[in-house]
Amino acid sequence: MKYVFGPVPSRRLGQSLGIDTIPPKTCNWNCVYCQLGRSVPLVHERREYYPRQDILLEVEQALADHRPGEIDWVTFVGSGEPTLHSGLGWLIRQVKELSDLPVAVITNGAFLYLPEVRLELSLADAVLPSLDAGNARLYRKINRPWPELTFERLLQGLQAFRQEYHGKFWVEVMLVKGLNDSEACLTEIARRLERIQPDQVHINLPTRPPAEAWVQLPDQDGLLRAMGILGDVAEVVHPAEGEFDLSGDENVVEAILNIITRHPMSQEQLVRALGRWQPEAVDQALGELEASRRAQVVRRYGSLFWTVRTARFPEENLKPITNDEQRSRRL
Ligand code: SF4
Repeated sequence: MKYVFGPVPSRRLGQSLGIDTIPPKTCNWNCVYCQLGRSVPLVHERREYYPRQDILLEVEQALADHRPGEIDWVTFVGSGEPTLHSGLGWLIRQVKELSDLPVAVITNGAFLYLPEVRLELSLADAVLPSLDAGNARLYRKINRPWPELTFERLLQGLQAFRQEYHGKFWVEVMLVKGLNDSEACLTEIARRLERIQPDQVHINLPTRPPAEAWVQLPDQDGLLRAMGILGDVAEVVHPAEGEFDLSGDENVVEAILNIITRHPMSQEQLVRALGRWQPEAVDQALGELEASRRAQVVRRYGSLFWTVRTARFPEENLKPITNDEQRSRRL
């Protein structure tokens, strides 16, 4: 399938059927921690990147292919910012007509200042926007947005949506060591959150390979500080591990590409996620993908992560695998 993936395990959304409405790495932000690499170029235009009817047909097929209980949520998420698709509201409405499953949208929230986007998202059962900074300078440093998407607009959109929206409003804070995990930064974020009044605050960690090599995971002190300062509604969300439903994929190469397009992973994680295939088959497929230049390896946190070749990571982080690394990844 081209637009629909999973269900994939999610800590917050159980087994989540993903709908990807936009081409790889289409985003109006260029976050330093983005697991999909850099946003080149930044994209600002809301339009019909893929025909909405084609996306809906795949959703219909995926829902028909799964038994009750196999999917917990239908989630608009994927290769960038889903609100860039101008048919998002229509798609949410259609999915809700097709099924009783709750619908979530994972968004950066940058377009929530637009009344039409708020109206479209109001149909969803849960909306999960981001707030990684408590001031404009840090917002520009972490999220590197399209210039017109100012911090004031982000806050204005989050507050306006909160007042109008009756579903679950869960704000995500990506915690990056040395960037936003100090007492001063967290206190500023907490003050903003007091005005936004989300139902929950999810503290995320950049465990997948960040776009920039200097991004670091917070340490235990940083996590404890965030928990203490962001209040009772805050919880740390560790990434869920588990098997991905890849029943729609015919072979292991296709299955790997489907995963790493949206979730770059280490080889060990891939082997666990692809439980349907033997580790040797996964290893062979990765070799083929690398040789045919459809996949690449990014070095982060002393590990190797597989991602699609089109993902933009700094060149110096993409050196070919050495013989030693080749041996150790097969152990
Ligand atoms: S993390 Fe999300 S909002 Fe940030 S650049 Fe990546 S896709 Fe865009």
